Amino acid sequence: MTTERIIDFLNTRRPDGPCLVVDLDVVRDNFSTFKRAMPSSAIYYAVKANPAPEILRLLAAMGSNFDAASVTEIEMALEAGATPQRISFGNTIKKERDVARAFALGVKMFAVDCAEEVEKIARAAPGSRVFCRVLTDGEGAEWPLSRKFGCVPAMAADVLRHAYALGLEPYGVSFHVGSQQTDVHAWDRALGDARGVFETLAADGIVLKMVNLGGGFPSRYLKDIPSAEAYGQAIFCALSKHFGNQIPETIIEPGRAMVGNAGVIKTEVVLISKKSRDDAIRWVYLDIGKFGGLAETMDEAIRYPIRTSRDGDAFEPCVLAGPTCDSADVMYEKNPYPLPITLTIGDEVLIEGTGAYTSTYSSVAFNGFEPLKSYVI
Ligand SMILES: *Cc1c(COP(=O)(O)O)cnc(C)c1O
Repeated sequence: MTTERIIDFLNTRRPDGPCLVVDLDVVRDNFSTFKRAMPSSAIYYAVKANPAPEILRLLAAMGSNFDAASVTEIEMALEAGATPQRISFGNTIKKERDVARAFALGVKMFAVDCAEEVEKIARAAPGSRVFCRVLTDGEGAEWPLSRKFGCVPAMAADVLRHAYALGLEPYGVSFHVGSQQTDVHAWDRALGDARGVFETLAADGIVLKMVNLGGGFPSRYLKDIPSAEAYGQAIFCALSKHFGNQIPETIIEPGRAMVGNAGVIKTEVVLISKKSRDDAIRWVYLDIGKFGGLAETMDEAIRYPIRTSRDGDAFEPCVLAGPTCDSADVMYEKNPYPLPITLTIGDEVLIEGTGAYTSTYSSVAFNGFEPLKSYVI
């Protein structure tokens, strides 16, 4: 969404080179929308989606909690004003010395998905809360996160029992239904699995308290998405179905949906050419590509809305590529992108919906290109 404020900023500041501009008003609206749609869930913003200090400060002031993937992200959340009680170390893959550093900073909630990780936490962060991540199939998600994180539900029970035996507090179960999840019912099956883990442990006298519903809430790109209310309702129904009148505490960890629509990347057309005299398709090269922050175009997974000043003219499908000397640096080729026939070298192009998973994905100096500049207004 290119807001008036973003247009004003670009017109008055005229920043040189590609840059991301994030409008905090949109982030503020997104946070309020989540609070309204899921009033009984605590919000843990997934810092990795966009860790700009201005965003973290705004969310901290609005009462958000934070899901951190590393000690640096924990420090950023603390710096922004969050207390350590409001931070979860949600990465299931942590060095033991990072667990110890997080614990020294006051963090006492950790994600695990195996007994080995539980042992690190028992040694480096004794007495802490742990929640175990279970696998999901990621079906329905445009950016699935399956396989790498989580264990099967039967093993989650063992992992949490092990945590109990080592003096940790087995706190709950987490999952992530896959990022950009456009099926509001995707949480249902995972909640059934979570319920199974709760029951297995209850039989051993271990009472779990919390389900971490993860992220996955979508941002609007080219296609319409269900409303936050629709997600809230579907998830509440699934919770009631599986947990009856014993609905546990829940937390959500939105990343993309908190910041995605708040950002716009300004970029410039560097070159437009064809591969042969009678080539039917034009190649459009921008001054940003996969290595400049658009990594989520990998496999053409995320398709961003693109705006130009010539959008009133006729369109034709184009191959869209980045500026580096790497042949992987092509964003849309299998499924070419319609752009105005009149688009010209030097034109400015706005790539919308780029507030999440862009600035920190940008490489430092691949081919000598600077990392993506970011302005938060
Ligand atoms: C990346 C991540 C999130 C955020 O996911 P989105 O799909 O961007 O909302 C939430 N929780 C965990 C554990 C993650 O790794």
